[in-house]
Amino acid sequence: MTKQHISHENIAIANLGGIDLSLSVTHVGNRKAQNKVLIINNLHGNELTGFYVLEEALQSMPIVENGLLSIISSANPLGLLHKQRFMPIDNVDLNRGYPPQAKERGIQVVLKNTLLEIGSKYDVIIDLHTFVRPSLSAAMVVSQASEKNTELIDDLSKTLGVEVVYKMNIHGSEEKRVASAFAFQMIAQGKAACVVEYSPIQYTSGSEVTQFAQGLVRALSRCGLYDLPEVSQVKKEIPTFERRQMMSRSSGLFLPKKALKEQVDKGEVLGYIIDVKTLEKKPLISEYSGVVTEIAAREFYVFGEKLVTIGVEQ
Ligand SMILES: [Zn+2]
Repeated sequence: MTKQHISHENIAIANLGGIDLSLSVTHVGNRKAQNKVLIINNLHGNELTGFYVLEEALQSMPIVENGLLSIISSANPLGLLHKQRFMPIDNVDLNRGYPPQAKERGIQVVLKNTLLEIGSKYDVIIDLHTFVRPSLSAAMVVSQASEKNTELIDDLSKTLGVEVVYKMNIHGSEEKRVASAFAFQMIAQGKAACVVEYSPIQYTSGSEVTQFAQGLVRALSRCGLYDLPEVSQVKKEIPTFERRQMMSRSSGLFLPKKALKEQVDKGEVLGYIIDVKTLEKKPLISEYSGVVTEIAAREFYVFGEKLVTIGVEQ
């Protein structure tokens, strides 16, 4: 039996005085191959589900015969260390602001440019994220550079084992915020790319992790890295939504009234916000009709934080 060919690479980013910052890349398969897929994980340091999914996927993956799979398991090692979303020291979101401006300052510039340079060597890029609040897992799909890429990403979104697909229009007002994200910059360079948002690890069971891992293994087969028996390649028809997000207009303790997957109408109460000083609760009224795909847990939320996402059918 042939063994999976795995090698590790360390890419130096910056000297931080007593320690050095580097990016670890794991290569699976043939580094000289034509067909190359890059998985990038943990751009946001506090997003952990992808690690568990990747660990299982690597264990169960067939031998990569027809290409190269490279995995950046943590694109934000300093954020991971600090258990925070942003990159410490520069205190920036590593998934915004691509490409960095000339003369922009900080370690983040080198890190972002290195990620862009790595990404430029691949045909397909899968960027793994994790929602922070209880959520349905999702594939985020934007329009691609070619019909071939559109077809591939459409297939990937249905094989990944996630619960919903969000079609995102990054030029519209709802999603404009994320237009400078890493994956979308890669698409602008002609790559096929999609973003996966898993549910937070504390709300994800072991069997869901397995489902995500098997989905990733299927998706990589669709990318052509190896062949899988036809039965395991089934595409699942899953709901496709545009997302509508609702932010908190006050600070307080959230008390959810609706659950994930529940259908809601515009005007319905989604939950309450308990005022810290008076202990009075005010309702959070849905501005949209659709399916609850993300809803805050019982926690303290600050003015302006996202509380609920409603999936609106297209
Ligand atoms: Zn993220």
